[in-house]
Amino acid sequence: MQVYRLPALSDNYIFLLHDADRRIAAVVDPAEAEPVLSQLKTLESELVAIFNTHHHSDHVGGNKTLLQHFPQATVYGGVEDRGRIPGQQVFLADGDRVTFGDRTAEVLFVPGHTRAHIAYYFPPKNSDDMGDLFCGDTLFAGGCGRLFEGTPSQMIRSLSKLRNLPDQTRVWCAHEYTLKNLQFALTVDNQNLDLQSRYQQVEQMRQRSQATVPSLLIEEKRTNPFLRWDQPNLQKRVNSQDPIQTFSRLRGMKDQF
Ligand code: ZN
Ligand code: FE
Repeated sequence: MQVYRLPALSDNYIFLLHDADRRIAAVVDPAEAEPVLSQLKTLESELVAIFNTHHHSDHVGGNKTLLQHFPQATVYGGVEDRGRIPGQQVFLADGDRVTFGDRTAEVLFVPGHTRAHIAYYFPPKNSDDMGDLFCGDTLFAGGCGRLFEGTPSQMIRSLSKLRNLPDQTRVWCAHEYTLKNLQFALTVDNQNLDLQSRYQQVEQMRQRSQATVPSLLIEEKRTNPFLRWDQPNLQKRVNSQDPIQTFSRLRGMKDQF
């Protein structure tokens, strides 16, 4: 399975999954249809699935037009998003499995950014390969989604599920927010050497207009403050020893950043 990263809108990424043998494709969170249609044309492939992580328009905006071109494509989303995702036919809950070509993804229910948000995790095909996590607006490179419909404790539970995946997992998040996220991270975790070097690397990449997505889960565990609510230095930074309060205060500071 080849993953194509298609820039869309101002800072979204759409991910197109391609099975070259079968000439079929699936798309994760089509913000808009046009980049997907042109990539499908290039690949001479048919769209068979739309995997949505949540209902926000910058994630489902292309559903309708894509369905007009590929009426046989199946639209997947979370069960709690019933009525909010255009064309949704499959209503997924935690632990459900979805297949694309010869690959199967596990569905993770990760509420917090919205009350219905799900993520799709494709385990590695063999032991020297990496897994792929499509996590929408739950986990970002260096950050996490805003809490629009969920509570900090819900979001910690959701992020814990993602943190428990193998270190060598590619994290395909839906926005290019990494530089700004790491600028914030440095204000709360400035002694973190891994974070300092990641920041420099990302700054250089952005100067060359390179994408910083996907990242690796191991880098997120080491440098993303929103996966580090149990680190004493971060707890100290926000005057708390409680994980939920730590997370909540960090998220509040980021909202103001
Ligand atoms: Zn969103
Ligand atoms: Fe978004």
